[in-house]
Amino acid sequence: MAGVVIPAQLRELVRQRAAFLCEYCRASEWLAGQRSHIDHILPDSKGGATTADNLCLACAACNGSKLDRTEAVDPSTGRIEPLFNPSRQRWQEHFTWSEDGTRIIGLTPCGRATVEALRLNRPLAVSARAVWVSVGRHPPKEQ
Ligand SMILES: [Zn+2]
Repeated sequence: MAGVVIPAQLRELVRQRAAFLCEYCRASEWLAGQRSHIDHILPDSKGGATTADNLCLACAACNGSKLDRTEAVDPSTGRIEPLFNPSRQRWQEHFTWSEDGTRIIGLTPCGRATVEALRLNRPLAVSARAVWVSVGRHPPKEQ
């Protein structure tokens, strides 16, 4: 969030805790060739604290799509659902990879709403994943 200073030590804690993977689309900083952003899960503008449990690692694309949202429409039901919360929820319970490893499939209302809102299957991400799969670097192994 603009204007919020996140201490360097806290940024580093978040990056390492996430194993340098975007906590939404699982893109690796190392494969993407750029540092991810530190995302306030509950946005600063909505009272979210700058503390380890309210921060996650998010690539520029996910962060840019999420903005200050905390919920979105599940395309299967049309209902508004909370976005995935990487601090409180496990990725594997809400998402899975397509057979070829290039697309993220939402398994729950929250997962489906997040895939849509954060554009987790944006064309550039899908094409990058295909390359990463071809060199045996994707999908990432889950902890
Ligand atoms: Zn991402």
